[in-house]
Amino acid sequence: MDYLEKRISQAQEAIENSEYILIGGGAGLSAAAGLTYSGKRFSDHFSDFMEKYGFTDMYAGTFYPFQTEEELWAHWARHIDVNRYLMPATRLYLDIMELVKNKKYFVISTNVESQFVKAGFPDDKVFEVQGDYSYLQCAKGCHDKLYYNEELIKKMVFHTKECRIPSELVPRCPVCGNEMDVNLRHNAFFVQNEEWYKADKRYSKFLDESEGKNIVYMEFGVGFNTPGIIRYPFEQMTYKNPNATLIRFNRDNPLGAPEIAKKTISFDEDIMLVIQSIGKRQSEQNLPGNEMKNA
Ligand SMILES: [Zn+2]
Repeated sequence: MDYLEKRISQAQEAIENSEYILIGGGAGLSAAAGLTYSGKRFSDHFSDFMEKYGFTDMYAGTFYPFQTEEELWAHWARHIDVNRYLMPATRLYLDIMELVKNKKYFVISTNVESQFVKAGFPDDKVFEVQGDYSYLQCAKGCHDKLYYNEELIKKMVFHTKECRIPSELVPRCPVCGNEMDVNLRHNAFFVQNEEWYKADKRYSKFLDESEGKNIVYMEFGVGFNTPGIIRYPFEQMTYKNPNATLIRFNRDNPLGAPEIAKKTISFDEDIMLVIQSIGKRQSEQNLPGNEMKNA
């Protein structure tokens, strides 16, 4: 790719000149923010699970075939506590907020740790389309209600002994009496509650409003697991709108479709470094006394 400074200034100008910003957040964004699922974060929090079950990162833990519900929930509780409740807003998400705060913006994200809201994005401008660690649902989706889990998760963590929670803390669906699950789209029983549909509507409204307008699509760490949610729609909207720019942050697949190559600014560099450089340029340009220089 070409000179980094040039792309940083192009991205900053595109943001500066835009009226609307649509942010798309994928797994690579949280990894870049420090919410990594392996290495020290894993061994610091999961050494007992690592020893007993042999998995070597947090992601693998979420797929491990635990033999009992007491073990399954001991693991989920630790996982959700570490990634959702103990984790404050990370620098990177805060920096993204800072960059777009004066624009008309909206966020669609496949991430489930509530980092956008923690970083100050208003609830009604964030659509977490794949679920949220903070909620439980009926494992069979027998009804469409979600249950905020902070108190229960903390209790489970507190009472975990030898990688198990006490049986009386295993959650049961209050309607059908069967198992419960974390509200994540990992099977066909994912519950989309009323709030989910409202967020979906707000997202559509934002797309309608911004159609044909001067808009920047900022896509962060979106791979090819579920490209139909963010990656492909962002490309198509960029293609259709002569006033659109796509800024794509992606370590492995940074390039845009050939049809929109001229409207795409791609970064395969560290997201944090690039966002901070764009932010620095933005604040330098907006210093009082710089109006003449920019005119
Ligand atoms: Zn149920």
